[in-house]
Amino acid sequence: MSGSDERYDVIVVGAGCAGAPLAALLARQGYTVCLVEKARLPSGTPSTHVFQADALAFLDSLGVLEKLRTTGAPLIGRADARVGDVRWPVNWPVRPGDPGGVMSVRRFRLDPLLAEAAREAGATLLAGTAVTDLVRTADGRVAGVRVSSATGGEETRGGTGQERVLRARLVVGADGRASTVARLAGARFYHVTPSQFALFWGYFAEADIGEPTFVFHRWADRVVLGLPTDDGLYQVQVGVDPARLREFRAGLPGSLLEYARAAEPVAKALSGARLVDKPHAATHWKGYFRESSGPGWVLVGDAGHFKDPTAGRGIGDAFLQAARLAETVTGHLSTGKAETAGTELDEALRRWAAWRDAEFVEPYWFAADIGSLAPLPAVLPEVLRGMRRAGTADSLFEMVNHRAMPGDIVTGPRLLGAVGRLLARGRLGVLREVAGLAAADRRRRALARSPRYETGRPHHEAW
Ligand SMILES: Cc1cc2nc3c(=O)[nH]c(=O)nc-3n(C[C@H](O)[C@H](O)[C@H](O)COP(=O)(O)OP(=O)(O)OC[C@H]3O[C@@H](n4cnc5c(N)ncnc54)[C@H](O)[C@@H]3O)c2cc1C
Repeated sequence: MSGSDERYDVIVVGAGCAGAPLAALLARQGYTVCLVEKARLPSGTPSTHVFQADALAFLDSLGVLEKLRTTGAPLIGRADARVGDVRWPVNWPVRPGDPGGVMSVRRFRLDPLLAEAAREAGATLLAGTAVTDLVRTADGRVAGVRVSSATGGEETRGGTGQERVLRARLVVGADGRASTVARLAGARFYHVTPSQFALFWGYFAEADIGEPTFVFHRWADRVVLGLPTDDGLYQVQVGVDPARLREFRAGLPGSLLEYARAAEPVAKALSGARLVDKPHAATHWKGYFRESSGPGWVLVGDAGHFKDPTAGRGIGDAFLQAARLAETVTGHLSTGKAETAGTELDEALRRWAAWRDAEFVEPYWFAADIGSLAPLPAVLPEVLRGMRRAGTADSLFEMVNHRAMPGDIVTGPRLLGAVGRLLARGRLGVLREVAGLAAADRRRRALARSPRYETGRPHHEAW
C-alpha cells in the first residue's frame, strides 16, 4: 500500500438513492465512510420520482423528510386507480407512524438532500470524483478504488484534478445501471427483460390539483400517471407503445397532453394548466438482476437490480436495500479483526445478495407484467372487482408500499372466485388465460432456481 493512499472502513460509489442513505447509516454507526460521486452535485438518474409509504417512513428516520417538505411537494393520501375497466378511488394504505402515503420530488432536489444527510452523519463526500478502477490484493480481493477528480470538483477533502487510490475493507457499487463497479467486478446479469412501453413525462404549472391524489390508469394499450410534485407542479407520465413512438415524438408536446387527457382525472387536473419545459423520455431499457457480491465488494440499488419503472419502486427499493445492507455488514467492518474477518464479511455479503433476490423477484416480475404491452388478462381486473366489492382493493397499494407481495394480493381463492364469475358470464377464454399465467409462473420459478446468465451491457437507451 502506498503511504499516501486514504483508508476507510467502507467506500460507497455513487451518491444516489442507494449510496447516500447507506453512507449515512454506516457513518452513524461510527464507521469511516467515503462516498464517491462522479457528478459535481448528485442529481440522480434521469427518472421520474414517485415514492411510497415505506420510503417516506425511511426518509423520516433519516431526518430528510422535513427538508423534502420545504420543496412544496405534498404528502399524497388518495389514489385513483384504474386497471382495465375497473376503477377504484381509495385512501392510500398507511400504517400507524407513517408520515404519509405517496410523495414525488424531482431528483435534482431529492438527491442532494440525501448526500447532505450522509455528510452530516460524518461520511466524507467526494463529489466530482469518478471511480475508474478497482484495487485488488494479490489474491484478487477488492480492497479499494482508483478515482479521478474533475478539476474544480466539489470535495470536502483531498485535492482536485488528480488521480488517487482509496482503500477500504468493503467497496459498495451504488453507481446505478451503468455501474463501473459491477463491470469491473465482472458481475453477470440474469432475469433480463427488455422494456416494452416507452415512457414520456412532463411537468405542468397552474394545474387544478385539488386533494392531492396519485392517479394510475392502465387500460387497453395505455398507462397514464398523474400526481402533484414539488414546486406546485403537476407531474404527468405516460407509457407509449413503441409502434407509435415516431408519431408520438413528432407530435410533442401536444401528443403528451392528448394522451394524458384520456385519463379523466388527469384531464381534469390539466384543464387550464401549461407545460413547463420540454417533456422527458426514456426508451429501450432492460430490467435485470446482477450478481451482487464477491470478496470485498457488493452492489446495491440499480447497480445490482433494475425493474420496469411503471411500478415506481426503484427509489423505495434502493432505501430498503441500503437499510438491510447497513444492518448486514455491521460488526464485520472494523479493522484489526482476526484473519477470518474477510471471510465473515464475504459470507454476510452473500447472505445479503440472496436476501435481495428473494425479496425482489416477485415484485420484479409484477413490474414487468404491468409494464408489458400484452393485453391484461381479464382475470386480473375481475380479481380487483371482487376486492373492490369486498372493500379490500386498497391493499393492492400495499404491494406498491412493498408491504405485500403480488402473491398476497392475487391469492388462490381470489383467483378461483374471479375465474368462477367469468365462467358464469360465458367467458370460457379465461381458462386459457389462467393456464398461461400458471405456465409463466412455473417458468419464473425455474429461472429463480437456475438463472440464465448474460454478460455485456444491460441497456441501450435513448433519451
Ligand atoms: C425513466 C425512469 C423512471 C423512473 N421512475 C421511478 C419512479 O417514479 N419511482 C421510483 O421509485 N423509481 C423510479 N425509477 C427508478 C429509480 O430512478 C432508480 O431505481 C433509483 O434511482 C436507483 O438509485 P441508485 O442510487 O441505485 O442509482 P442512481 O440514482 O442512478 O445513482 C447512481 C449514482 O452513481 C453515480 N455514479 C455512476 N458512476 C459512477 C462512478 N464511476 N463513480 C462515481 N459515481 C458514479 C451517478 O452519478 C449517480 O449519482 C425510474 C427509472 C427510470 C429509468
